Amino acid sequence: MRIATYTRISTDEEHQPYSLEAQAVRLAAYVESQEGWRITRRFTDQASGASLERPGLERALKEADAKRFDLLLVYRVDRLSRSVRGLAHVLEQLDQAEVLFRSATEPFDTSSSAGRMMVQMLGVFAEFERATIVERVIAGMERKAARGEWNGGSVPFGYRLDAERRYLEPEPAEAAVVEEIFERYVERLHGTQAIARWLSGRGYRTKQSKPFNPQAVLTILRNRAYLGQISFRGTHHAAPHTPLIEAALFERAQAILRERGEDHSLRRSNQSDYLLTGLVKCVRCGKRYLGAAANGNGGRYRYYVCFSRQRYGRGTCDADSLPADELEQAILEQLQDLLAREDDVREAISVAFADLTKQQPKRDAELTRIDADIRKVDEALDRYFRAFENGSMPEQACAPRIADLTKRLSELQARRDELAADAADTPEPLSEDDLHALQAHVAQVIADGEPAARKALLQALVDEIRVASRDEIYPFFTLPTVRPPYGSVPPTRIELVHTV
Ligand SMILES: [Zn+2]
Repeated sequence: MRIATYTRISTDEEHQPYSLEAQAVRLAAYVESQEGWRITRRFTDQASGASLERPGLERALKEADAKRFDLLLVYRVDRLSRSVRGLAHVLEQLDQAEVLFRSATEPFDTSSSAGRMMVQMLGVFAEFERATIVERVIAGMERKAARGEWNGGSVPFGYRLDAERRYLEPEPAEAAVVEEIFERYVERLHGTQAIARWLSGRGYRTKQSKPFNPQAVLTILRNRAYLGQISFRGTHHAAPHTPLIEAALFERAQAILRERGEDHSLRRSNQSDYLLTGLVKCVRCGKRYLGAAANGNGGRYRYYVCFSRQRYGRGTCDADSLPADELEQAILEQLQDLLAREDDVREAISVAFADLTKQQPKRDAELTRIDADIRKVDEALDRYFRAFENGSMPEQACAPRIADLTKRLSELQARRDELAADAADTPEPLSEDDLHALQAHVAQVIADGEPAARKALLQALVDEIRVASRDEIYPFFTLPTVRPPYGSVPPTRIELVHTV
């Protein structure tokens, strides 16, 4: 399929945080991801937002007419036109030329009337949209980073900010120290603790005017700003500022960091390593426990610690920390014990299932009511769209109303889908075989499960683990009530009190 791309930027920069290059790069990646697509034409416009002149778009439409391409791809619909009328006009012309239209970031399909309606609304709401503000800010930061400009945040030790140009420049008093930190770590193989002590002993303070600790030293050793780069969301861009460290020295430091396991350990721990993430609750302060790690003599030691205690110290909450491996294993074994109590499990399931069946007539009534509501909202939307088309009502007046109705419509449809899925087949209670299959699965995961499998199981079947102290740990489990697929039926809850 021959793809034409259309990119546009307004010269009033503020409102247009996507550079032409950023749009082009994303469109190219999108085309790359589609089988059989290739870009054959590129159209672009650069104009002030107010101007209606779009020579690039005009040309695209002419070439569409001449069948020079099969599909027009934009980054966002608001690139095409800022007004509904303009957008409808463009789409109509493409339609007549039998050229398809697609946005790389917004899901719709112009071959259906519903899709076309979506497109029209997106065009209107591009101006009102709030949800994308964050996305736009990030795109703007990405663009800044790509130009090597400082993105904000704390300036790395060794640099200061040239406020005017927004680039980093060496802070002479600190720059020499940065080099010494790397040399001590790489040549003399000093540890981060020793380096932190040495820095504090010489009276150096971090940019936040705090004494250096091992964490602050690690931050320096890992910071690619010292190579003359700016990093943003995992991508490193060459920046115009002066590097403080040679690439070879930096790379050796990274190798030692990896060797010592320091590349991750003291960083805020990666929560995906923790099987019980989000499930452990501190009874004393009500906050969740976080996964954390420290390096000891026996290697890396993982534990769970109360958020308040981790953040504000023991003065705020003195809840016990819990060893991660032991806690995770104990909870898995608890689950296994629970499933082995088959009579209790069956009892819980039958109670929950009876509740569920009682709700069936209520569900049918709700479904009928929702269908009627959907029809009403549909009709109201139709009226507003007709008012658009014949120009009897200004866009500004219609748009907020349509926004409300659309939101209401999608809420109703979501609820309807939920109810319909439940009603589709009569649920059956979890059978004897299902229970045995679950038991076997849990046993197998305990015996030789990968961390990912262990985590999936715990996240599915643990409702909450309440921790009062190291000796008072209360896990609550949830079990499926009905045969898979479970639909949206709430699982039953079985309380099991136990200490680890
Ligand atoms: Zn706490």
